[in-house]
Amino acid sequence: MAAQINPKPLTRKPVLLSKLEGSQDVVNMAVIVPKEDGVISVSEDRTIRVWMKRDSGQYWPSVYHSMAAPCSCMSFNPETRRLSVGLDNGTVSEFILSEDYNKMASAKSYLAAHQNRVTLVFFVLEMEWVLSTGQDKYFTWHCAESGRRLGGYKTIAWASCLQFDVETRHVFVGDCSGQVTILRLEQDNCSVVTTFRGHTGSITALCWDPWQRSLFSGSSDHSIIMWDIGGRKGTAIELQGHNDKVQSLCYAPHTRQLISCGADGGIVVWNMDVKRQETPEWLDSDSCQKCDQPFFWNFKQMWDNKKIGLRQHHCRKCGKAMCGKCSSKRSTIPLMGFEFEVRVCDSCCESITDEDRAPTATFHDSKHHVVHMHFDITRGWLLTSGNDRVIKLWDMTPVVS
Ligand SMILES: [Zn+2]
Ligand SMILES: [Zn+2]
Repeated sequence: MAAQINPKPLTRKPVLLSKLEGSQDVVNMAVIVPKEDGVISVSEDRTIRVWMKRDSGQYWPSVYHSMAAPCSCMSFNPETRRLSVGLDNGTVSEFILSEDYNKMASAKSYLAAHQNRVTLVFFVLEMEWVLSTGQDKYFTWHCAESGRRLGGYKTIAWASCLQFDVETRHVFVGDCSGQVTILRLEQDNCSVVTTFRGHTGSITALCWDPWQRSLFSGSSDHSIIMWDIGGRKGTAIELQGHNDKVQSLCYAPHTRQLISCGADGGIVVWNMDVKRQETPEWLDSDSCQKCDQPFFWNFKQMWDNKKIGLRQHHCRKCGKAMCGKCSSKRSTIPLMGFEFEVRVCDSCCESITDEDRAPTATFHDSKHHVVHMHFDITRGWLLTSGNDRVIKLWDMTPVVS
C-alpha cells in the first residue's frame, strides 16, 4: 500500500505564559530580565515596577517606585543592572537595581535632558553614553559618568526613536515626519552621515541588525522597510503585513527572523532568510502602458483620440502605469513584502507561481493594542505591553526556532 501523506495544519503559535496586571495606565515599555523570571516596566501611571515570579507562578512587583511624571520609556543594561527611565517632563532618571531585584537605588538624573516628553532612551555601556530622543525635536547624548550633556542634534520633527551601532558609532534617529537621520557621534559633537525617507507616516520603531548591517524601520503608515546600510547599495525592501500602525520591532539574529507588532494587536514573524526583492518605482505615464488608453489628465491625447481618460493605477510587481481594466487582478507577492493581496497587471499575475505565493511570514493575534515589545533571544520569550495596561509574556519557540 502506498504511503499516505496527511498534511497537518501548522499549529506553531506563540504560547501565552503569563499576564502581568495591575498598572493603572498604559504600560509604555517593559523588558524581560535576562536569566531571571523578572520583568521591568514603566507606565503612564508614573510607576516603575520590577515584577518577579513568585512560587504561585504569578508575577508580583518586588519594586514599586513612583515618579514625578509619567514614565514614557526605559533602557535596562543587565551587566550593570542600570535602569535609565525617560519621563514625560523631559527628565531622564537613572537607577541601579540590586542583585536580587528586590531593591532599586537612585543614581542620577539628567534634568531637562529634553524640553518635552522623552520618546526613547538608550544606554551604551561601551562609551558610557545615555542617548535619548524627545518631542522637543532633539536627539541628545549625555556622559553617564559625569552626567554632563555632551551634545544634541535638532531633527525636523518630533524625534520618536533611535538605534545605535557601537562599532561605527552611528546613531539612527527616526522622526515623526517619516525621516531617518544617520549621525556619527564623537565624544562631544556629531556629523550628519545621511538622511533617508521611505515612509508616508511617522517612524514609530527602529531596529538595527549589526550582523547583516540592516536597519528596519516601522511606521504609522502600516509598513516596515529594511534598509541595507552595510551593502551601501541603498536597497530598501518593503514589508506589508499590518493593518494598523507598526509599533515595535525586534530581530532574532540566530534564526534571521524579524518580529513586528502593530496597534491592531498583530504579531508578525518575518522570515528574513529568503532572497527578497525591492518593490519597483511607480512609473509615470500619460496613458496605460498596456492598452495605450489615455489617463484623465492627458487632455491632448484625449482630444486627439476623442476618448475619455481613465484613472491611473500601478502594478505592484512591475510598477507600470495601467488602467483599471489592464490591472484588474490581485495577488500576494511575499518576496516583495506583500503578504496581503495587491493590484497586479495581467501579465505579472500569470508570471507569479504558487511557489512565489508561499507566505514568508506568520501572523498571530496578541489580543491587545501593543505599544511595545521585547524579545529575549536566549529563551525565545516575547513580551508585549499594551494600552490595555496589561503585559503579556509569550513563549515564541514554536514559531522562532
Ligand atoms: Zn489598459
Ligand atoms: Zn505588472
